Amino acid sequence: MSTHNNTAGRATELRTILAGYSYEYHVLDKPSVSDAVYDSLMGELKSIEAEHPELITSDSPTQRVGSELLGGFKKVTHTTRMLSLNDVFDVKDVEAWVVRMDKLLPGRKHEFFADIKMDGLACALIYEDGLLVQAVTRGDSFIGEDVTQNVRTITSVPLRLRESAGFEYLLKGRLEIRGEIVMLKKHFEALNERQRQAGKPEFANPRNLAAGTIRQLDPKLVAERPLTFMGYDLIREDISEVPTNMFAYEALTALGLRRNQQASVFTSLNDVMEFVYTWDKKRLKLPFNTDGLVIKLNNRQQFADLGVVGKQPRAAVAYKYAAEQATTIVKDIVISIGRTGAATPVAVFNPVKVAGTTVQHASLHNADEIARKDIRIGDTVVIFKAGDIIPQVESVVTELRPKDSQPFNYKAALAQQYPELEFERTGEDVVYRVKGSSGDFILKRSIEYYASKGALDIDTLGEKNVIALVDSGLVKDSADIYLLTVDDLLKLDRFAEKSAEKLISAIQSNKTPLLERFILGLGIRHVGAQTAIDLANRFGSIDALAAATIDELETVEGIGKVVAESIIAWFSDEDNIALIQKFKDVGVKPTFIKKEGGKLSGKNFVVTGTLETMSRDDAADKIRALGGTFQTSVAKDTHYLVAGGKVGASKLQKATAYGTAVINEAEFVQLIKG
Ligand code: NAD
Repeated sequence: MSTHNNTAGRATELRTILAGYSYEYHVLDKPSVSDAVYDSLMGELKSIEAEHPELITSDSPTQRVGSELLGGFKKVTHTTRMLSLNDVFDVKDVEAWVVRMDKLLPGRKHEFFADIKMDGLACALIYEDGLLVQAVTRGDSFIGEDVTQNVRTITSVPLRLRESAGFEYLLKGRLEIRGEIVMLKKHFEALNERQRQAGKPEFANPRNLAAGTIRQLDPKLVAERPLTFMGYDLIREDISEVPTNMFAYEALTALGLRRNQQASVFTSLNDVMEFVYTWDKKRLKLPFNTDGLVIKLNNRQQFADLGVVGKQPRAAVAYKYAAEQATTIVKDIVISIGRTGAATPVAVFNPVKVAGTTVQHASLHNADEIARKDIRIGDTVVIFKAGDIIPQVESVVTELRPKDSQPFNYKAALAQQYPELEFERTGEDVVYRVKGSSGDFILKRSIEYYASKGALDIDTLGEKNVIALVDSGLVKDSADIYLLTVDDLLKLDRFAEKSAEKLISAIQSNKTPLLERFILGLGIRHVGAQTAIDLANRFGSIDALAAATIDELETVEGIGKVVAESIIAWFSDEDNIALIQKFKDVGVKPTFIKKEGGKLSGKNFVVTGTLETMSRDDAADKIRALGGTFQTSVAKDTHYLVAGGKVGASKLQKATAYGTAVINEAEFVQLIKG
């Protein structure tokens, strides 16, 4: 979203689509997307609104709780507003929340209360002198629906509260008990089993089934669907009667209500986080669905003092567990060519967190897959990632597709990204391959390149030996060369004892190559010698380079979008990921030596024309060895233009414009010597 206009348009589109989803979820109880997708799009809208507050509209879904009310039920105004909760996603968010509260209430003793967040629908039970008189849904937070008749059928809702020593005063006057109506997983499964047997459609999820059930106009039907009420709040006019949230929970039990037994009080944030992590693992075993935890201040006076901002109380947050789905925008589709000549399309995204890790690219596998899912550049897509599994594009949110969008033309993209190559697709093959690469053409080329002078510089591993090694099947990728033995080579006609030993020793003595040479040797498209050096200097290891984001790559001097995307694409290819692992397994350890303080450190050079005392490559090596940077063309940051012979007019002009010093060969030699 580059321009303000685009941002405003995007916000409007997000608002429209979110309003639709919200209607399906809250009113029809039939969501068409997962909560994770809804939350992700809502997160995008929230961040746009945070950056551009002037774009907030009063009807924005960020400004509302729940949704409009259905007809058929009496409307009831809540005595105390039924709010929603601010989401937090990691320990940093939780710390920021505490800092915000500390600012408003300085010097407060930290006492937190945490409970499991149930995924159901909120309901308020009103008791007068211990007798249930009304049950109301949350509605739009101010006004809810009177669902008393239906809620009375829920067996865990006491029609009269129990008397209990120490809590008698709560049976006098008005008491509001708030909680979540859920359908337990076992009940949901049993109901769906019945649906299946009756040949009827299955229900989508327990949350929406519970909500839909409570808003049935026929209480008999409600009674047939087992629902459970779990209390989480207890409201009295005089708040000193319920001093802490833990006390409220004890009172709930005493009065005969169900509530989570896991709820606890913590005095440090560390302990709260411990609780969060424990339940992240155990939550799937709970009898109901949960998407996180609720963390509040335990002291209810402080809770009240902190007040409400927008639709959320300041003193509570909902900690949401990492979702396995999220939405993001496809910035580009780049194609990478593997060692077998296979073309693999990779989608590059705006970075997004999915299942706890940041995802910024995913393989799209092949042209058919792109066509089947109709994935286009500029599309908002749903990304899926479960645990350690490689992220995938699940689907496209077509409603958010740019108006001028065109289907992705794979063949045109191949031609544009690889103008020098021809591609073909034969028989049943779903993959486009480089024409003529059906043999081991690309593999041979890539091993040759890996071993070449500029890269690993492995003596005697030239074209002919590579051909022999590949043709004999001894070597299937560059990492295989490290597994070769003299005996292996002696089986081939080309080798005698001496030449075999020579090659093996050249290979084995090259197991700790300089990182920049190793990077160059990988043969990543657009990554030449200088880029490899810059990447090595910036990232310091292969793992760090593999994990680099597109934005980080673009901060490297001289690396633009095309090079950055090419690096991203290379490291997204599963074959390449496996190859890097194999290099590690066979004991290749690229080393990184930071050349700081070299006498040419921080100086950028361009060499033009023919030098008499050395080749251009030698000049480049010398510059680099002294910590300088060798550039291929004069740019803003070029310090020296070394001129072999006469300098062309345009180069001179550029050098003058950028304040680049033009020096001759003798001056250059002096510089690297003295
Ligand atoms: P929220 O995340 O703001 O949570 C607040 C609610 O948590 C409370 O009202 C309460 O009912 C409940 N809760 C559960 N356990 C609790 C406990 N132990 N203590 C206190 N409160 C507890 O939720 P929300 O405002 O009800 O709705 C937002 C949710 O609805 C999001 O998760 C969103 O994904 C989902 N949604 C989904 C779609 C869709 O299309 N899939 C559409 C709209 C909304």
